[in-house]
Amino acid sequence: MLKEKIKSLAQELKEEVISNRRHLHANPELSYQEFETANFVKQKLEEIGIHKIESKATTGWTALIEGKNPTKKVIALRADMDALPIVEANEVSYKSQKEGVMHACGHDAHTASLLGAAKILHQVRDHFEGTIKLLFQPGEEVAPGGASFMIKDGALENPKPAGIIGQHVMPFIPAGKVGFRQGIYMASADELYLTVKGKGGHGAMPETLIDPVLIASHLIVAMQQVISRASSPKVPSVLSFGRVEALGATNVIPNEVKIQGTFRTLNEEWRAAAHKKMLQLAHGLVESMGGKLDFEIRKGYPFLQNDPELTARATDAAKEYLGEENVVDLDIWMAAEDFAYYSQEIDGCFYRLGTRNEAKGIVSGVHTPTFDIEEDALEIGAGLMAWLAVSELEKA
Ligand SMILES: [Zn+2]
Ligand SMILES: [Zn+2]
Repeated sequence: MLKEKIKSLAQELKEEVISNRRHLHANPELSYQEFETANFVKQKLEEIGIHKIESKATTGWTALIEGKNPTKKVIALRADMDALPIVEANEVSYKSQKEGVMHACGHDAHTASLLGAAKILHQVRDHFEGTIKLLFQPGEEVAPGGASFMIKDGALENPKPAGIIGQHVMPFIPAGKVGFRQGIYMASADELYLTVKGKGGHGAMPETLIDPVLIASHLIVAMQQVISRASSPKVPSVLSFGRVEALGATNVIPNEVKIQGTFRTLNEEWRAAAHKKMLQLAHGLVESMGGKLDFEIRKGYPFLQNDPELTARATDAAKEYLGEENVVDLDIWMAAEDFAYYSQEIDGCFYRLGTRNEAKGIVSGVHTPTFDIEEDALEIGAGLMAWLAVSELEKA
């Protein structure tokens, strides 16, 4: 049976997947600079015997594993390869050798898992019909997102996949389990940059000034109206301001105040409408108080939708592979992920690989200096991805 074959290959490959992950972890590269990582991936693919490799988005690759009757159906599997500007605090043998750069989002695990899946799939290629397309992409962490460049560079064409599956580590789910969610799953994320301009001067003489600090205070409060009154309660939205800069003093009112924030939601129409409403409200309010406003909205990733049918089939396949008790439901997650670009083009399924191990103290969230994974999960990371791909080809 193919499932048992994949399981035993995943078991055999576990140490290799772990060692690849450790190599990548020790040698992280920032977004769009994944040159060594890309070379490593290509070399590993060639060692496996995969030669239909194409360069995409400068530091990314697509590669094809063809089964029998290769044009029957194409399914894509995706991994991201970039690291973050974080100083690693873990004292482990595979600690980052690049000060200030760290695989703190598990993209090392995603890349190593997909290489493992590739090796498994290449070995069982006579046992399935169709083609599996691998996507190794750069730049997930930095807008506009490596996925958008992969798509522009034709990663979803020639051949065009019917669906795409991506996995991401999840430190809140115990190793051994995975999580799925049908439909809306992750948020769009837009960055907001506001500068309120007034007229500064002595704090004791406000009647001669236009106080940008007071205007900015009103603005921060008023903007929440867009979320609480203009948005449907059925659509999750969040607006948060994390940076306010007024460089005055106890008795000095500054000329301007800078505000930065994030706006996230789960509906593209509402997202566009909210942008308009925020701009309108902010400009109106600031001008009514005598100030001037620069307001830039930098659009980030779209919201992430898991295709319900593809995700239902993948969930069933995961239950067959891991047992019902090891497949959990995911809640909506208001972070953003550039996998969303693929899911806007073709059917997508983005699922979570549990990597938590409380006994070993592996509990830190992603994007923290103490983030790490339970590496036992990588056996599932490689094997399950391979199984999901062949299951989906079978269900054509
Ligand atoms: Zn991340
Ligand atoms: Zn990530």
